[in-house]
This record gives sequence, C-alpha cells and structure tokens, in this order.
Amino acid sequence: MLPYQTLEEAASALGRNLTFAETLWFNYSASKSDYVLYLHNILFLFVIFSVVPLPLVFAEVLSWAGLDRYKIQPKVRLPFSDMLKCYKDVMRMFILIVGPLQLVSYPSVQIIGIRTGLPLPSGWEMLCQLLVYFLVEDYTNYWIHRFLHNKWGYEKIHRVHHEYTAPIGFAAPYAHWAEILILGIPSFLGPAMVPGHMVTFWSWIALRQVEAIETHSGYDFPWTPTKYIPFYGGAEYHDYHHYVGGQSQSNFASVFTYCDFIYGTDKGFRYQKKILKKLKEESNAVQNGGSYNNSTVDLKSD
Ligand SMILES: [Zn+2]
Ligand SMILES: [Zn+2]
Repeated sequence: MLPYQTLEEAASALGRNLTFAETLWFNYSASKSDYVLYLHNILFLFVIFSVVPLPLVFAEVLSWAGLDRYKIQPKVRLPFSDMLKCYKDVMRMFILIVGPLQLVSYPSVQIIGIRTGLPLPSGWEMLCQLLVYFLVEDYTNYWIHRFLHNKWGYEKIHRVHHEYTAPIGFAAPYAHWAEILILGIPSFLGPAMVPGHMVTFWSWIALRQVEAIETHSGYDFPWTPTKYIPFYGGAEYHDYHHYVGGQSQSNFASVFTYCDFIYGTDKGFRYQKKILKKLKEESNAVQNGGSYNNSTVDLKSD
C-alpha cells in the first residue's frame, strides 16, 4: 500500500512528476495491501500454466503445418487426453501446494524487503536483477537437480517429473509435491540476495515459468528469441535430459549451459549432437550422389 493519498502527494514526495508507468502503478496499487499484491503471483502462475502451453497443444494435436519438422522427438505424439491429464495433475498440485505456498510465504518477502512503493525501478535495474535471479537459480537448481538423480532422490521424488520422456509444455511444472517445495528455494534465493520491487518479483516468477514451458515444449523452434541469449540451454538441451530419463547424468541445468560444461555433465549430449550432425551430413552426401559407405561414423565418445 502506498503512503500517499493523491498523485500530487506522490509527486511532491518524489520531487518530480510521476512517469506514465508510475502513474499506472499508483492508480492500481495505492489502495491494495502488499499481501494482496504479492498474491497476484497465484493468478499469474495460473494463467501461465494454463495459457502459455496452449499453442503447443494445438501444434501437437492438430499437427499444424510446418511445425512438425521442429519436433525434437518426432516419433512421440501424445493424444489430447494425455495432455489434459497432465494439465489436471498440474492444477491439482497448484491447488494443493503452489497456491498455499504463496499464501503462507508472504512473511519471507517482507523479511527480505521486496518493496511496493515509488519510484518504480528503471528498466536497467530490473534487467540486472532478473539476470542475477536467473544465474543464482540456475546454479542452485543445477546441484539440487543433480542430487535428485541419486537413487533415493530419483525413486522417491524426481521420478514423477521424468514420467514424460518426451516433454510437453504442460509438463514443465509437473512434479512431486516435495520437488515443487524444494525448487522453491532456488527461485527465492536470488530475490533474497538482491531484493527489488514487487514488479521485478512478479516478472521473475512469470519469466521463469515461461522459460520452463519453452524448455519443455518438445519443439526446437529456430526463431525463438531465446536463441540469442548466450549460454542458454533451451528445449533441445533439456529434452535430451528427459529422453535419457532416470539414468541421465547429463544436462542438469535448468536455464543455461555453463554449469553442465564446467562440471562435465554435458558430455553425453555433446556426443549425441556430434553423431547426429555427422549422420545428417552423410545422409545429405548420399542424396547428392555420394556414398554412405565412403565415410564411417566415429562412435567413440569424447
Ligand atoms: Zn532430472
Ligand atoms: Zn524437466
């Protein structure tokens, strides 16, 4: 809740006129408590989990022309009923775990000092903070995820997330309730280290989930803007982790590729990419009149 009654009061407290965005924020948030503003995350998460994967559902079920060639595992095609079941399971966890977690976690947001007042953060400030949040979450998530691939962690908890060996958008938040709670820690760590404005916090929660849906989309679209982000893993990268399944010791990172590179857990993925590239080149050579037998695939892993 803002400590000003009017726009004029806010402007005189800031010592300048409010920007357009600040005026919007004032009109929207002035009479709402910080708790209510924080709980907006429940609505955002519900909309993101429900709406963002929908184009992917249409692409998969209707085989939208042209998109099939971007499927990472083209032989796997889930019927609509399976996707609906996944969404229902996600919503059940949303009602039982995600929503209640938001309801009770407000004191932690108060303690770390997420602010709701004016001035609003600059775009540059938001960008820097979001970058920190993504990096901190990625690093922490890497080690928790890697730990969950030990025998106990996998069988008791992480196995649920791996039920989809060919991921779909709805399956991004599909996980055991304990995993949902555990992975809330890396998400919270960045904002705890570099607390910002509520708008930045909302953006973080939303962007992280949209990123997870893209990563689990099952499609490797060449035009996605995330292709321009350095060290970004993307759909193909995480798809490989699901494809290998419980035995996977590769591609643990959730967002970027640097952790797997540094700790040597991307070797299987890089080896497979190398082999596939070689096979493709040879197949092109055959089509262009060359002979497949003229070259051999080096099956030795590096
Ligand atoms: Zn895993
Ligand atoms: Zn996954």
